[in-house]
Amino acid sequence: MISSTDISNCKQWDHAYLWHPFTQMREWLAEDPLVIERAEGNYLFDSQGNRYFDGVSSLWCNVHGHARPEIVEAIQQQAGKLDHSTMLGLTNVPATVLAKRLIELAPKGLRRVFYSDSGATAVEIALKMAFEYWKLCGDTQRTTFVSLEGSYHGDTIGAMSVGYSEAFHSRYRELLFPALRINPPHVFRYYKKEAPETALALALDEAARILSENRKRLAGLIVEPLMQGAAGMWNHPIEYLQGLHRICKDNGILFIADEVAVGFGRTGTIFACEQAAISPDLMCLGKGISGGVLPLAATLASEEIFEAFLGDYSEYKTFFHGHTYTGNPIACAASIASLDIFVTDNVMNRMKVLIKEIHEIVDGIRQLPHVADVRQWGLMVGIELAQDAASRRPYPADRRMGKQVILEARKRGIILRPLGDVVVLMPPLSTTLDELNHLVAVVQETIQAVTGS
Ligand SMILES: *Cc1c(COP(=O)(O)O)cnc(C)c1O
Repeated sequence: MISSTDISNCKQWDHAYLWHPFTQMREWLAEDPLVIERAEGNYLFDSQGNRYFDGVSSLWCNVHGHARPEIVEAIQQQAGKLDHSTMLGLTNVPATVLAKRLIELAPKGLRRVFYSDSGATAVEIALKMAFEYWKLCGDTQRTTFVSLEGSYHGDTIGAMSVGYSEAFHSRYRELLFPALRINPPHVFRYYKKEAPETALALALDEAARILSENRKRLAGLIVEPLMQGAAGMWNHPIEYLQGLHRICKDNGILFIADEVAVGFGRTGTIFACEQAAISPDLMCLGKGISGGVLPLAATLASEEIFEAFLGDYSEYKTFFHGHTYTGNPIACAASIASLDIFVTDNVMNRMKVLIKEIHEIVDGIRQLPHVADVRQWGLMVGIELAQDAASRRPYPADRRMGKQVILEARKRGIILRPLGDVVVLMPPLSTTLDELNHLVAVVQETIQAVTGS
C-alpha cells in the first residue's frame, strides 16, 4: 500500500529514481516537480490540494473526465472477477464484447479487432499486417510505406520509420527503415505561400504522382485523418483525406488510418474517417479507447486482410505477433463502460455545441500579435506562437515560449503540455461550456502575459 510518508517523499524519490518521457532530465532535476495526487471529473489535484483543469486530457486520452463512477465500477468489478488471462489460446468476455462493439462503431469494411496496449503497438501491428498481407497474396514487391511529412505514429522503431520527426528521431536515423513521404496541403499553403485551393490541388497531385510511380513497391499509406497531432496540430481538408483514399484504391495500396489521437469523438464524429465517408483497410486505435484510464489499443482490419492469413498451420500464414497484456479484461471492461457513456450522456450531440463554441472563441487568440496561427478541428486546437507572426519567424528555441506559457497557465489553474511553441488545447469531451470559455480566456491572458502583448 502507499502511505502518507510515501507521498511526502515522492518529490525526492522522483528525482532519485525516475526518468521521464520526452523530458530533458537536467531541466527536470533543477525544478520542483508538480505531483498529481488525485483527479475528479475534468480536474487534477496536486499533493497540496490545488486544483487544475486538465486542458490536454492527460496527454490527449481522457474522454469523459477522471474517476467516472461507471468506469471505476467496471474496473473494480472486472478486477475482482478476472484480472488478466492470456489471449494466446484462450479468450475472455470483455475482450469479445468490446471487439463486437468496436466493429459496430467502425467504418464499414473493418471486421476484425487485434488488441495491444499502446498507440505505437497498434501502428506496428498495422504495418506488419499490411506488409505480410502482400506476401501472402504472392506480391513480394510491395514492401514500402508512404506517410505524410511531419506525421507522428509513435516511438517504436516501425512507428518512427513511417512517422519520422527530425527533432525527435534524427539520432535513430540509421535504425529506421526507409519510407516515402508526401507533403500535405499545409506545406504548400504555409511554406510555399499557396492559396488553400491551390495547396489542396498541389498536395493531391503530388500524392497521385508519388503513389502511382511507386505503386509496385508500396504496401500501404498511413495517415492521421483530418489532424496531424504531434506535428503541431496541422489539419487538412476532408477532400484531401478522400483524395488520398481514392488514390490508394486506384493503385491497390492499403489505406491505414491512425486514429490513435483523433478517434473516440475528438473531431466531432466517433472516428475522423466518418467525416470523409471512407473505410480504411486498417485502423489504429489507442489513447481514448479506454476512456483514457488504462493502456489499451487496437488495430482493426478488413476481412480481406484477415482472410489472407487463413491456412493450414504448416503453411505458416499465422500472424506471429502478440503482447503479454493483449486483450486485458480490465482495460476492455473500462473501454466498454466508456462506450456506454457515449450513449447515456449523448456525448456526440454535446460535442456539436462545444465545437461550435470553441471555433468562435479561439478567434480572440488568433488576433494576438505573437500568434502566427490557430488550427482547430473538433476539440483539438494548436496555437502557434511566433516572434514575428506575419512572417512566421519563430522564437529562438532557448526562449522556451511554449513552456513559459504552460507554466503561467499552471499558476492560473490549468494543466497544458505544448508541442514546441505550439500551445495545445485538448480538453476532455466532458468539458462544460463554462469550462471551455474559462480555458480559452485564461490561455489568451497567459499568452498575452508571456509574449508581452
Ligand atoms: C499518441 C499517438 C501515437 C502513439 O501512441 P502511444 O500510446 O503513445 O504509443 C500514435 N499515433 C498518433 C496519431 C498519436 O497521437
